Amino acid sequence: MINDCYYDKYDRKEKLHFDSKVVHGGLGCDPITGAVSFPVFQTATFRHRSFDISTGYNYSRLQNPTREELERTMAILEEGLEGFAYSSGQAASMSVFGLLEKGDHVILSDDIYGGTYRICADIFSKLDCEFTYLDMSDLENLEKAIRPSTKLLFVETPTNPMMKVADISAIAKIAKKHHVLLVVDNTFLTPYFQRPLTLGADIVLHSGTKYLCGHNDVIAGIVVVSTQELADHFRLQMKSRGNGLAPWDSWLLLRGLKTLSLRMERHDSNAKKVAAWLKTHPKVKKLNYAGVGGMISFEVDSLETVKHVLSDVQMILFAESLGGAETLITYPLTQTHESTPPAVREALGINERFLRISIGIEDAGDIIADLKQALG
Ligand SMILES: *Cc1c(COP(=O)(O)O)cnc(C)c1O
Repeated sequence: MINDCYYDKYDRKEKLHFDSKVVHGGLGCDPITGAVSFPVFQTATFRHRSFDISTGYNYSRLQNPTREELERTMAILEEGLEGFAYSSGQAASMSVFGLLEKGDHVILSDDIYGGTYRICADIFSKLDCEFTYLDMSDLENLEKAIRPSTKLLFVETPTNPMMKVADISAIAKIAKKHHVLLVVDNTFLTPYFQRPLTLGADIVLHSGTKYLCGHNDVIAGIVVVSTQELADHFRLQMKSRGNGLAPWDSWLLLRGLKTLSLRMERHDSNAKKVAAWLKTHPKVKKLNYAGVGGMISFEVDSLETVKHVLSDVQMILFAESLGGAETLITYPLTQTHESTPPAVREALGINERFLRISIGIEDAGDIIADLKQALG
């Protein structure tokens, strides 16, 4: 019953603009009762009416209607074939790397989320998989690094925390030429600003914890794929690993998504103002901003200044994570990038004077005033 209604709605919603799609999701409302807020199907298992009559639902590890609504919504927003919602961004990444077989090779952005590095270094290297870290803006170098055993290209753009931008379309062409899958971690820009599958990527990955949720209250991960073969892999992985997102958390993400466009617009306009202001501050020595989105990183003049800023911010919160309504300031050296090897950190410029800010949706003047008093 739910599925029949879904196809009807899906066809019509395809024609909507992005800002309407985020509000109306997959089915949008409950097809049985018409409830405008999609219900939380808080159930572990599903009753079968008789020997040969079933709703198609069996057990929530395999499928749950609330999680499915989130998965459909994300597939629509990323313009992919199927979506998958996981218990964390890390769980989503683990399923992506689950595509690897013994001896496979992966090329990744040199400047990536520390947890992604940890998955490669601590888990998949034990399967004799090999990893090469590259600056993905150097396409010639990237093509040279591809080996017969290369299975995946893993791109984060803009990168975390240096905000380097890669050309997804150009990388996708190289990936296709060499029959390698292209994965893009789209956590920082979200489909509001960037839809990697439309640029030729095969898999999009998100920490749903960040902008998709947007309220710093859920840990979640999303994968959206472009082919049935990949969809089958991820469905089997979820069934076996048991890492699907719980119904209530799926609902919170659906709720957060309704305001994605509004929030991203404000994150972006606030960040542009804060970046312009930081650029002129005498204690700010280097500023990284991709020119779009809400993430800024910068280097200050001394460790003393770092200590002042992290202790003295008032409205801004000194906390790990990003993408929520609240402005957060992070110290990558001991927080997000603790797992990155010191030599790599040093080469990238993640030193003791380096800070990262996730610009929230507060008043931009208040964010600047708080940074002003904390920087001194
Ligand atoms: C946070 C983050 C992850 C990991 O996601 P979790 O939800 O924390 O497990 C992966 N990639 C990027 C870019 C992130 O910021």
